[in-house]
Amino acid sequence: MILLEGRKTAKDIKQEIAEEVSSFISGGGKKPHLAAILVGADGASETYVNAKVKACDNVGFDSTLIRLENKVSELELLLEIEKINNNDNIDGLIVQLPLPSHIDEMKVTQAIHPSKDVDGFHPENIGRMALNLPTYLPATPAGILELLLRYDVKTSGQHCVVVGRSHIVGSPISILLSKNNYPGNCTVTLTHSRTKNLDKITRSADILIVALGIPEFIKPEMVKDGVVIIDVGITRVESNKTKNGWKLLGDVAFEQLKNKCSFITPVPGGVGPMTIAMLLKNTLKSAKREVY
Ligand code: NDP
Repeated sequence: MILLEGRKTAKDIKQEIAEEVSSFISGGGKKPHLAAILVGADGASETYVNAKVKACDNVGFDSTLIRLENKVSELELLLEIEKINNNDNIDGLIVQLPLPSHIDEMKVTQAIHPSKDVDGFHPENIGRMALNLPTYLPATPAGILELLLRYDVKTSGQHCVVVGRSHIVGSPISILLSKNNYPGNCTVTLTHSRTKNLDKITRSADILIVALGIPEFIKPEMVKDGVVIIDVGITRVESNKTKNGWKLLGDVAFEQLKNKCSFITPVPGGVGPMTIAMLLKNTLKSAKREVY
């Protein structure tokens, strides 16, 4: 079994980005600048946003974190986004999800100008992705592709089963891995909560990508020997073994099935750090005007 070490790979990528930033600046370019909006004070969202801001510092980007109260109106949030859209000094904007229920996430996603949509969630960028046009790939699927690439995992002709069809992970990774690219050229089966005989389908997977948010949902009897597993899930569960009283679990029963796998991502330290690295990559692309 080979561990797909996202943390280490992300560190390598961040090093590459830092070098690219410094040569961009010495050539007269400006420092890339990422703005993040955090609404409310959800513990997990706070952790993710702080990690993104810290990562910006590490690679030599500027960053701005805008905190809005949980009760902020949808209109106020949209006006804040508009201000950033019009700020030439800012290259990328992310709004940390989930948002409070009185705010329409889709409206917010569409309010971000496509040229600053470094999360790659805007319909225009999703459309560009589907058509193989220059775009910002959504960060988590892009991180998965990068891991497969850097570990030289065979994808062509492989049966890839994706569990979960979210707009940000399951659906885009299904599209990307079915493309005539490397990594890609998979035969993809996209599954969800209405899928019948899921365990039969997962057992036929050469590559299994799991993004549903149910801790340890995938058990050893649901996979075949030699499978490649990408575990996207991250759930905080209570633990009396850690100082803060919780730990992170993936969607795969890692300890029970790791030895059946040819490759597997750990949680934490797998897909999560890669997501942040890809967000930085998109922000650098924006600063260099490589897409728009
Ligand atoms: P969503 O929560 O938006 O959707 C979950 C998906 O899982 C849905 O498509 C749902 O089906 C499907 N599902 C739920 N129950 C079952 C079941 N019993 N069998 C099969 N499918 C099922 O997914 P996200 O992609 O946003 O998040 C998934 C997980 O990934 C979460 O733990 C999240 O925290 C994590 N995540 C991690 C990231 C990272 O950087 N590592 C980035 C993004 C997410 P249906 O559509 O029918 O309801």
